Amino acid sequence: MTSYVSRFRDGDKDQKDLLGGKGANLAEMTNLDLPVPPGFTITTAACRAYMRDGHVPPELRVEVTLAVREIEDTIGRRLGDFHEPLLVSVRSGAKFSMPGMMETVLNIGLNDASVKGLTEFSGDERFAWDSYRRLIQKFGKTVLGIDGELFAAALDERKAAVGAVTDVDLSAQDLRVLVQTFKEIVVEQTGREFPQHPREQLDMAIEAVLDSWNTDRARLYRRRERIPHDLGTAVNVVSMVFGNLGETSGTGVCFTRDPSTGEAGVYGDYLPNAQGEDVVAGIRNTLPLSELEVLDPVSYDALRHAMRRLETHYRDLCDIEFTIERGKLWLLQTRVGKRTAAAAFRIATELVDESLITMDEAITRCTGDKLSQLLFPQFDAGAARQLLTRAMPASPGAAVGEIVLDNAQALERTAAGAHVILVRRETNPDDLQGMIVADGVLTARGGKTSHAAVVARGMGTCAVVGAEELDVDAARGEVRVRGEVLHAGDTIAIDGATGEVFRGEVPVVDSPVMVYVSDGLDAGLAAAADPEARALVTAVDRVLRHADHVRRMHVRTNADSADDARRARARGAEGVGLCRTEHQFLGDRRQYIERLVLASDDDARQAALDALLPLQRDDFAGLLEAMDGLPTTIRLIDPPLHEFLPDLTELAVKVAVATEPDPTDVALLAAVERMHEQNPMLGLRGVRLGLTLPGLFALQVRAIAEATVQLRQAGRDPRPEIMVPLVGSVRELQLVREEAERVLAEVSASSGVPLDVPIGCMIELPRAALTAHRIAEEADFFSFGTNDLTQTTWGFSRDDVERAFFADYLQNGVLTISPFETLDADGVGALVRAGVEGGRATKPGLHLGVCGEHGGDPESIHFFHDVGLDYVSCSPFRVPIARLEAGRAAV
Ligand code: PEP
Ligand code: MG
Repeated sequence: MTSYVSRFRDGDKDQKDLLGGKGANLAEMTNLDLPVPPGFTITTAACRAYMRDGHVPPELRVEVTLAVREIEDTIGRRLGDFHEPLLVSVRSGAKFSMPGMMETVLNIGLNDASVKGLTEFSGDERFAWDSYRRLIQKFGKTVLGIDGELFAAALDERKAAVGAVTDVDLSAQDLRVLVQTFKEIVVEQTGREFPQHPREQLDMAIEAVLDSWNTDRARLYRRRERIPHDLGTAVNVVSMVFGNLGETSGTGVCFTRDPSTGEAGVYGDYLPNAQGEDVVAGIRNTLPLSELEVLDPVSYDALRHAMRRLETHYRDLCDIEFTIERGKLWLLQTRVGKRTAAAAFRIATELVDESLITMDEAITRCTGDKLSQLLFPQFDAGAARQLLTRAMPASPGAAVGEIVLDNAQALERTAAGAHVILVRRETNPDDLQGMIVADGVLTARGGKTSHAAVVARGMGTCAVVGAEELDVDAARGEVRVRGEVLHAGDTIAIDGATGEVFRGEVPVVDSPVMVYVSDGLDAGLAAAADPEARALVTAVDRVLRHADHVRRMHVRTNADSADDARRARARGAEGVGLCRTEHQFLGDRRQYIERLVLASDDDARQAALDALLPLQRDDFAGLLEAMDGLPTTIRLIDPPLHEFLPDLTELAVKVAVATEPDPTDVALLAAVERMHEQNPMLGLRGVRLGLTLPGLFALQVRAIAEATVQLRQAGRDPRPEIMVPLVGSVRELQLVREEAERVLAEVSASSGVPLDVPIGCMIELPRAALTAHRIAEEADFFSFGTNDLTQTTWGFSRDDVERAFFADYLQNGVLTISPFETLDADGVGALVRAGVEGGRATKPGLHLGVCGEHGGDPESIHFFHDVGLDYVSCSPFRVPIARLEAGRAAV
């Protein structure tokens, strides 16, 4: 017979899959001889069978009978007894904590007969009737699906009738009348009596708790927390103990360390003469746990003993729910407690100091996500604020500034010393100048991998994107949102961690951890305002240093400028994994590309290239100097040419309405029309452009070579690597390689400086991954471009899908997270794996990295470690996070 029930004494903490978190920990505590009320757990397997078959498995009823009888025998009380009845609670408890999302029913076993037995047992008639009315109220709402308001209204009515201010003022007689009223509500609403048979109550409550796994709110919570829907919940049936049996009873919650700062000590709340739900409902104010020491020193000592026992056993912060019944302590729940990011780092390192865990374990407990929360400036949590709208949090941080609607305004206002938020319908490469000077970026369109999001993340600038309620009217200098009109110059605040947009100023506080990762330990400690912040900076430093010590993968950065490279290097980057050279052609330099495209003959083309050479050489010299001694991967120009040309429609209109069109405009229009593509991201970009627009790649290679020579001659140690984008066939790479080697040889010959520059390519098309064994013949290294690889594997346009339909896909479970954010290990990951295996089959030592956005994503980093990459490359901001995650992946 399948076993659907596990006695507490038979389980342990490692069986969360089957027993849920609560059940597993109750079992563990039972086996530690801690005072846990007798009980058993109905396993998640029962819930899964229930979901599959639509009814409770018949074996479960039998097993429940056996387990209940065992409790009855242990305690010497029976469910529904006239004297001293056994009552049980039926509590949900899934593998992953889903606080408040599912149901719990207390006091099962009370009926018209056993309420008298409870009076006898407790010696307190009021308590017995109050327990019975609580049962009908909760059971009615949760199990029978009756509107809870009906009970609440009846309770209020009764209170008003007898002049009671709170529930506590109701007498036993009042509660007895209320029980009658509640039972009538049950009959009116369901057409049947409140079930009197305890076993029927129990079975119905179990079924209701199983059903609560699939309520809308539980599903929504799981989607947000990325908890699979098919796990199912366990159900714990536990004999009731009462914290509301007078002043020697009570209930509380405690933590073995402060879950908000991590400080060691005893933290918690206690509420005398109350049940757990009273604490949650906040009806009365709780007392600090220290007061329990005065009220009931014996129970307090027992609790301290249990806390120490549990913390030692779990070797981590535990939170504990307890009840004291007439001076006897009972533990109702424990778990490794949730904690803030700051507390996570502090607790982990302090447990190392107490020799309870090793540094390897410490880093497994400090995630990159938690570290990233410590890096961003934040809005002062206590400050008032006025919410305007909420959109996609695309690049974290907190920014406050004046609204500016274009580059010109952004530059003008920042030159005048203002802080600005660039507000655009969407951004394109032309907005870069504005984005660079802005404190934050807000767009009405676009998803997390839209241009605005990627660029903002790269720069560490706070961004909120896809705020669909915004109507950005740049021409009028207005932004309209929910009927309000804001103007350029008005102050707004955006929260890149939550996606919230506020009107007016919200105070921002600085993070000393950010100062630490950017400028070192001394600076971080100096920036820390108090001993707590200093302890935190020290803890983060220890964790990061250990991660660096154990990680196998290197961490590089995606940087397009010397400034970015320097910033990333200070944060621990060990090279540049991607310099997107197309970003160096924006702004004023766009005209050079325009000239190149429009060149009607070789001379004109050469002149355009010659003009670009010194600019590019300076770009690369700056970058290579900033990364002196470290590998610096420079990618040849990638995106479609149309991004550098004027908008087709605008230009066509300009030419059409002009009485005498400018001949340059006419020529430009012809070129733009010629180059226009329906799907530019699948069009003439990357290596395709290099092979069809003569001289452009050669120019870049020459600039790299000359910059290298220049630095070598100055005694520096530049280490460039040349990377070719969007390769799909080995022949493409071969052609580019031939040309690049020729240019490198020329520069080397003319300068007398030997140049040994690795030439590799991006693997960002499925064909490249699948033919990696061929491509490797021509490549000195591979870097996986998982942005394009995701785009082309799924056939999702990375610029549009998040806005278009990801919300629906996340809602209906096709996706649990955007594959542009966390690598789709099954699909895109399979291609990465194929690329790794293919490449290394041809060249066993082939150097492999990743430079798509996923290189900075914690979960994806673990995948890249497992698949055997040599490095990840991510935005400067994420470098410390990637260092930590690469370390965590290695232990
Ligand atoms: C990629 O496609 O993953 C990549 C890094 O290139 P880009 O984002 O510039 O297309
Ligand atoms: Mg790409």
